[in-house]
Amino acid sequence: MPDELLVRLQRFHEHTFPGVQDTFETLVKDGQHPTILFIGCSDSRLVPYLLTGTGPGELFIVRNVGAFVPPHDGSAGYHGTAAAIEFAVLNLNVARIVVCGHSHCGGIRALYEGAPKQATNLAAWLELGREAVLPVRLCPEALRRTEQRAVVLQLERLMGYPMVREQVEAGHLTLHGWHYVIEDGEVHVFDVRSGAFVPASSATHSGTGPYRDAADDAVFNEIDASYYSAAQSA
Ligand SMILES: [Zn+2]
Repeated sequence: MPDELLVRLQRFHEHTFPGVQDTFETLVKDGQHPTILFIGCSDSRLVPYLLTGTGPGELFIVRNVGAFVPPHDGSAGYHGTAAAIEFAVLNLNVARIVVCGHSHCGGIRALYEGAPKQATNLAAWLELGREAVLPVRLCPEALRRTEQRAVVLQLERLMGYPMVREQVEAGHLTLHGWHYVIEDGEVHVFDVRSGAFVPASSATHSGTGPYRDAADDAVFNEIDASYYSAAQSA
């Protein structure tokens, strides 16, 4: 019986890679310079490259259950997500950090239904979303609202990272809160002024963090404009 996974590896090397070889050679020669740190849920239905129309070298990605951000509490340890945030901001100097949750999130659902008894790490990890839980019985609407509240919670926690706060306050870094609705194929972006998630199809920006006030909008729109013109000409 053929090993289907091996077949896919061979297919990539023989058929797909030649078409993108130049891109990867450049990325090796010049190094990577992604401008976006994408913090997403591990869910297999969330595909960051598809959503954002990006390719090799454009996204620095860290994914975990729930798209959670652990607190920056000085407890240096095996904190993979925290390490990725530090690297992205201090080494790569990313201009944007996206926190992307999604519909039908098993991690958020587990906040209501609990984790398997043996999953002690998972149970502890889920506490990073606890504040987003609503005092209601779980239903589709409650799940959706909790998923969105969890995204905002992580944006707030990001501001607890000294290097994030410094760059945000200096106007060099923008935070984005996204909620991807799998069945609609649409990202809803968090708008700090309305406090709501707005479908990308009717949004005027790609999301704001909870720290930002209206006075910052001029800078923010300028960054957005340059980003989009660069994206369109790419
Ligand atoms: Zn999820």
